[in-house]
Amino acid sequence: MMAAIQAAEPGNSVLLLEKNEKLGKKLFITGKGRCNVTNDCDVENLLAHVVTNPKFLYSAFYGFSSQDMKQFLAERGLRLKTERGNRVFPVSDHSSDVIACLAKELSGRGVEVRLREAVQELVLGEGAAETGDFQETSGQGPSSRVAAVRMVDGTVYEADAVIVATGGLSYPSTGSDGDGHRLATETGHRVTECTPALVPFTSPDGWCPKLMGLSLKNVNVAIWDGKKKLYEEFGEMLFTHFGVSGPAVLSGSSVAARRIRKKPLTLSVDLKPALSREQLDRRILKDFESRKNKQFRNALCDLYPAKLIPVMVERSGIPPEKRVNGISKEERERLVSLTKAFTLTLSGLRGFQEAIVTQGGVSVKEVDPATMESRRVRGLYFAGEVLDLDGVTGGYNLQIAWSTGYAAGKAAAKG
Ligand SMILES: Cc1cc2nc3c(=O)[nH]c(=O)nc-3n(C[C@H](O)[C@H](O)[C@H](O)COP(=O)(O)OP(=O)(O)OC[C@H]3O[C@@H](n4cnc5c(N)ncnc54)[C@H](O)[C@@H]3O)c2cc1C
Repeated sequence: MMAAIQAAEPGNSVLLLEKNEKLGKKLFITGKGRCNVTNDCDVENLLAHVVTNPKFLYSAFYGFSSQDMKQFLAERGLRLKTERGNRVFPVSDHSSDVIACLAKELSGRGVEVRLREAVQELVLGEGAAETGDFQETSGQGPSSRVAAVRMVDGTVYEADAVIVATGGLSYPSTGSDGDGHRLATETGHRVTECTPALVPFTSPDGWCPKLMGLSLKNVNVAIWDGKKKLYEEFGEMLFTHFGVSGPAVLSGSSVAARRIRKKPLTLSVDLKPALSREQLDRRILKDFESRKNKQFRNALCDLYPAKLIPVMVERSGIPPEKRVNGISKEERERLVSLTKAFTLTLSGLRGFQEAIVTQGGVSVKEVDPATMESRRVRGLYFAGEVLDLDGVTGGYNLQIAWSTGYAAGKAAAKG
C-alpha cells in the first residue's frame, strides 16, 4: 500500500493487486488489533532493532523514517499516541483506522485497487541495462526487465515496473504464504533459508505443562548457547503447554532462530532481578522467620505466584514438609540459585502459523538498498517482509515495510 501510494505520481497509472478480499489483512491483526505502527525513535535506534541485515536498511530508513511515518499518518488525520518502549499506536486503538487511512490515500492518489487478484507469475522481457548505470551481482548484470504479471486466472497486466510486496511466510492465513519467494526464485533471485521468528519456543521439560498459563512479569530472561549468552531481556514471559512465550521471550527467538535448528539452547529466568543474591537470601530468611513453624511448601506464598510454588519446591530438592526453621543455609542457597536462574531447555521454535515475522527471504545482495530494485531484473522491486529483513517487536517490522515500500514506490515512479 505504501509502495503504491508513492508510485502514484501524476502521469503514472498504478494498479495494486491483492489476492485477499480486502486490504491489509495482516495489518488488521498487528499489535493485537491495535497496530503498533512504528517506533518513535531515531534512525540509529531503528537500525539497532533490526536483527537481519540492518545495514541494508540505512538508506531506506533515512529516506523515510519513523518520524516521517508518524507525520504521514498525522497529516492524513490519524491521531497517534506513544506507549511504553516508544511504541506508536493510533489513539483509537484500532488497526482498521491505519488501513482506512492508507486506503483513502490510495484512492485519493488514483491507485486502482483490485481485490481477489492473485499474481501467479512475473513475465520478463528482453532488455539489459541500456544505461549502464546498473550494478552487477557476481558478474551478472540484469539481462532482462519485467514486462508484465500473469494472474492465476491467466489475465496479463503489462507494466513498466512491478513491486513485489507479498510478505513472508508467517500467518499464511493473512495471505503471506510464500508467493513472493516463488516469484523471486523463478526470476533468478536467491531466497535465503527461512525460519519463523518472533515466535514461541518449544521445551521438552515437564515443568512447562505444569506451569501452563502462568505469566511472569518483571523477570529477566536470558538465552544461552552453552556458556555464550545470546540474548537478555527484562519483561514478561508466559508458560504454555508446549514451552514458553510472551514479549520478553519472543524477541529472543529472532536472535536464536538459526542456532536452535542445530542444537538445544537454555533459557535462564531470573525471577527476582531487582534483588542481588544476598538481598534475596535476606528476604527469604525474613519470610521464613515470620513463618517459623510452617512447612517449606506453605512458606513461599509471598515469594512466588501460587502456580510456581510446587515447581520451586520440587526443583529446590528441599523436602516440602520440612519446617522452615530447619532449613539449612545450603538449602536456602539452592533456593536462591534456582530463583536467580530458573532454567529450561529450549528445543525448537513453533511454526510459521504462530510467527510474527519470517527470518529469511529475498537476498538483499540482489537488491539495490537505495531503490529496492532487483539487480537481476530491471523494473522489478521488492519491499517489506518478502525481503531477508526482520526486526524485534516494537513497531520495527512495520517500519521496515513502510520504509522499503516508500523507497520502492518512489524509485518505480521515476522508472
Ligand atoms: C500477529 C501479528 C502481529 C504483528 N504485530 C506487529 C506490530 O504491532 N508492529 C509491527 O511493526 N509489526 C507487526 N507484525 C509484523 C508485520 O505485520 C509484518 O512485518 C508486515 O505486515 C509486513 O508487511 P508486508 O507488506 O511486507 O507484508 P504483508 O503485510 O504480509 O502483506 C502482503 C500482502 O500481499 C498479498 N499477497 C501475497 N501474495 C500475493 C499474490 N501472489 N498476489 C497478490 N497479492 C498477494 C497478501 O495477501 C498480503 O495482503 C505482526 C505480525 C503478526 C503476524
